[in-house]
Amino acid sequence: MTYNEYVGHIKCLIIGSGPAGYTAAIYAARADLNPVMYTGIVPGGQLTQTTEVDNFPGYPTGITGPLLMEDLKLQAERFGTDVRFGYVTKVLFSKEGGVHQVEIDGTKTFTADTVIIATGATAKWLGLPSEEKFNGFGVSACAVCDGFFFKGQDVAIVGAGDTAAEEATYLAKLCRKVYMLVRRDEFRASKAMVNRVMKTTNIEVLFNTETLEIIGDQTGVTGLRTFDREKEEEGRTLAVTGFFVAIGHQPNTALFSDQLDMDSAGYLITQANSTKTNIPGVFACGDVQDHQFRQAITAAGTGCMAALEAERYIAAKEDLATVHQPVQETI
Ligand code: NDP
Repeated sequence: MTYNEYVGHIKCLIIGSGPAGYTAAIYAARADLNPVMYTGIVPGGQLTQTTEVDNFPGYPTGITGPLLMEDLKLQAERFGTDVRFGYVTKVLFSKEGGVHQVEIDGTKTFTADTVIIATGATAKWLGLPSEEKFNGFGVSACAVCDGFFFKGQDVAIVGAGDTAAEEATYLAKLCRKVYMLVRRDEFRASKAMVNRVMKTTNIEVLFNTETLEIIGDQTGVTGLRTFDREKEEEGRTLAVTGFFVAIGHQPNTALFSDQLDMDSAGYLITQANSTKTNIPGVFACGDVQDHQFRQAITAAGTGCMAALEAERYIAAKEDLATVHQPVQETI
């Protein structure tokens, strides 16, 4: 790494400002690790792009995603977290557990004893203008978060993997009817998940079907136009009020390639029941290491774990330094 302006050494750096990052910050700050957080280009993370959050414990009447993230930020700052708007552009981790070098915005570099990675994952979208227009107003990438708002209504879900299958069956329990749009003539999901979908009477699977456009008005989504890939012509128009996209997520880990162990999809691999990565002093929490649950509360839980593990790591390092300190001769 080329050194830019060197801006000093810190005990704990947190990369990312979603529920995992802020929870790690609250715990690290209370443990006197004086954490510095770099927020990334979307401060607050994925939740700032949602509307109502009804399933985060402690908010009996619900809260909006942006307000929840603002509350978490205030709580982290109350204990002294230094929250900075900026982007980590390069990292150089020490394999031997020494200090880690981090470059910010391509202009400055500092070193850190511990790094907590909470960079999250980004939902993949179809890329339709109408999808963007109604995002948060009937369009969602999380059935578990937003399905409740469509109780008793007709909805559609796009995707054919395990996530789409799981979310379709979840929605089927709440909604009157679920249309599942599968672009090929077969699922990608496991047999067990497919069986569950096929057995659910209020799910209608439309194979060889793509989405042409999501239709709506000032009230939100009112329907969608589909394309029949087999007939190569416009297909059915479906009257739905909710449109769920479940075509996979991309973990935000490009920065760490070649340095941290990842699975084939790019999620960081952590040790069992721990947030430890393969590099001593580097911890990962939240969606960047979890493709299964992906909830704000599970991200927050692993953020807490990461801070506790960082604290223990630093304490052990300091103990070791004390043990190896040469005894000062006194006169
Ligand atoms: P996957 O990558 O497995 O599946 C994505 C699905 O979306 C595929 O069916 C793909 O279609 C479809 N798709 C992609 N792009 C488009 C598009 N533009 N238009 C329409 N459809 C599209 O992602 P998942 O999130 O489902 O799963 C990720 C990983 O997590 C997997 O390993 C999965 O097994 C795992 N998982 C496990 C669960 C469990 O064990 N309970 C629950 C959820 C996930 P195509 O098939 O044609 O490529």
